Amino acid sequence: MNLEEIKMRRPLIAGNWKMNGLTADGRALAAAVAERAKAGDPGCDVLVCPPFTLIGAVGAALTGSPVALGAQDCHAAVSGAHTGDVSAEMLKDAGCAFVIVGHSERRADHGEDDATVKAKAEAALRAGLTVIVCVGETEAERDAGKTEAVVARQVKGSLPAGATPANLVVAYEPVWAIGTGRTPTPADAQAVHARIRAELKGLIGGAADAVRLLYGGSVKPSNAKELMGQPDIDGALVGGAALKAEDFWGIVGSYA
Ligand code: PEP
Repeated sequence: MNLEEIKMRRPLIAGNWKMNGLTADGRALAAAVAERAKAGDPGCDVLVCPPFTLIGAVGAALTGSPVALGAQDCHAAVSGAHTGDVSAEMLKDAGCAFVIVGHSERRADHGEDDATVKAKAEAALRAGLTVIVCVGETEAERDAGKTEAVVARQVKGSLPAGATPANLVVAYEPVWAIGTGRTPTPADAQAVHARIRAELKGLIGGAADAVRLLYGGSVKPSNAKELMGQPDIDGALVGGAALKAEDFWGIVGSYA
């Protein structure tokens, strides 16, 4: 990868709020992030992904700021008899530009396999959203030396048809690092990101060099800069630290 190719990947810091926040909390957090974003270009794109119930309120609070709005999941179908689900078209209609699919908590809690994740990712593209496809190994898989094989299989199985650097982001989130305070070393994370990019190259060719690859799992202001400094890490998917504007902005500040 040459310098020009690296430069064309504008980093992305994405906050995954998970199942947290009532309306007042969501509004206040979004307003605090928007306020900081209005102060000047942070050197990266910024995205927040609140729970479904807060999409309207958060979207309103972000108005006039460069912070993008996303959701945490979608159904594969456009509409129909799917009680409790939300389609990608509904998310687009509600103001979302992004949707996360295949988060390990969805894979574990809802039994989502690669085929399901791929169908959801294709729904996202159909609706005109940018999709963030999550992959990552469990601790047992890492201990068994299977990290790269697992992640490569997930990328291959979850990749939507029609993926381009403009509509696809891949997030590498080792399951054992999510919410635990543990992270891989920056070098270990970089090695997996490089493997993901190589896998993408086999699937979509040279365009893979322009696809943004995020690291996720216990990112905080104190460890972000070193992780974000790796050549194939183009930003972060942030859980816990995205719930406090100061911490989230501290991570965004890696690109200052
Ligand atoms: C996540 O669940 O996407 C995540 C990265 O969580 P945390 O930052 O809390 O580890």
